[in-house]
Amino acid sequence: MNFERDSARAVGDKKLQSALINVTDRFRAARKRASDETPGWDDLRGRAREIKKHTIAHLDEYLLELERNVRKAGGRVHWARDAEEARNIIIDIARRNGVKSVVKSKSMATEEIGLNDGLEAAGIRAVETDLGEYIIQLAGEHPSHIIAPAIHKTRHDISELFAEKLGVPYMSEPQELTKVARERLRGEFLGAGMGVSGANFGVAETGTIVIVENEGNARLTTTVPPIHVALMGIEKLLPRFGDLSLFLPLLVRSATGQKTSTYISLITGPRRDADKDGPREFHLVLLDNGRSGILADRETRESLYCIRCGACLNNCPVYRKVGGHSYGWVYSGPIGTIINPQLMGIDRAPELPFASSLCGACRDVCPVKIDFPKVLLELRSKVVTRKEKTGQAAAIMEALSFRFWRAVVTHRRIYELALRLSRHAQRPWKRGGVLRSLPYPFSRWTDERDFPAVSETPFRERWRKIDRKGGPR
Ligand code: SF4
Repeated sequence: MNFERDSARAVGDKKLQSALINVTDRFRAARKRASDETPGWDDLRGRAREIKKHTIAHLDEYLLELERNVRKAGGRVHWARDAEEARNIIIDIARRNGVKSVVKSKSMATEEIGLNDGLEAAGIRAVETDLGEYIIQLAGEHPSHIIAPAIHKTRHDISELFAEKLGVPYMSEPQELTKVARERLRGEFLGAGMGVSGANFGVAETGTIVIVENEGNARLTTTVPPIHVALMGIEKLLPRFGDLSLFLPLLVRSATGQKTSTYISLITGPRRDADKDGPREFHLVLLDNGRSGILADRETRESLYCIRCGACLNNCPVYRKVGGHSYGWVYSGPIGTIINPQLMGIDRAPELPFASSLCGACRDVCPVKIDFPKVLLELRSKVVTRKEKTGQAAAIMEALSFRFWRAVVTHRRIYELALRLSRHAQRPWKRGGVLRSLPYPFSRWTDERDFPAVSETPFRERWRKIDRKGGPR
């Protein structure tokens, strides 16, 4: 992972820039319209936050309740400590049932555990069936947005990709491209021995898994093959079935601005005797993979409230410039900046908590009101403390600079002396009220933008003069 390098490359990519602005602008406008039209939107967000806070604080109890109720409905529950264990559980289920091909609906958790590569290494074919995921699987890439995985691709890119990988003529109309994908995928659904999905929510009270989508591919994935495996992060829980009446509108309106999504599947166990269709086996894999560690940290625990709507990405001035691939892993945008370092280990993603202007646009749109600036500052502090402990020169210099700064600004006489000295010292670089081309290390600032010069008559001096003349106090 190299956020600085990859984001610089993304900013220089004109095609990516226009794709990012087009799509995120559309999502932003739709979310704004939907939230404006929903009475008491802010109160609903507050209630959702309280429910998630309560659920995460009692996660152990609700997970056991979920397990009991899934079993009661005839499903099987598996616990996966990490990505490898989760992959092995799913591969084992496939092998025991002689499965040769798997259809998948969109799931960030399966991306997180690298399931496709794991299945392929085990000799099992995995086919993504969400259109965006299908496109990026053909391209050999990873998703660049939580709900719009191929946001970085233009219509022209997709036409070329289909022509190259599927051997179809170049076609420019989205309807034609969708038709090609649909025809290919129908056969995959019918031939698959197993369907793998994620889960938007798991309801402890009833053992129900909830999947929200617009294409119908998740419903086919979970009903056509004889086995359905759902992979769910342990934080995706809701205590009661009735909570869905709050969370479903919040999720859908924050994500796409729709009043409701086209398909909402509520899955409680496998097919019953009287059912006409549905899988004969239902497995729920509960994934930890670092989440317990987040749960243990009271300062950053609220990262687990996320319901993966993607609104924070669409509204983040950084994501809108650098796109999803710059974040180097599955989750991108503001949620990626807080969750990736915690799931991967902060040493593997130390740049991400700094990939934010702390403007708070993400917090303002988040349906569960995650306080991003607070969590980001906490993570930044951890990164800096670690660097200091390991004796990294830049971190030590930064700490010394801030100590020096504190000493100056908390002592009036020293502060005034520093201002006087700066006024003289800045003269070789001062042009029209700003400083340009300062020497290293200040050049790291002035290479990109001007630095305001210290005023020739600082505010304190002006104030004292006004004061002496009997001006405002
Ligand atoms: S952090 Fe909030 S806004 Fe971002 S994806 Fe999660 S729920 Fe949505």
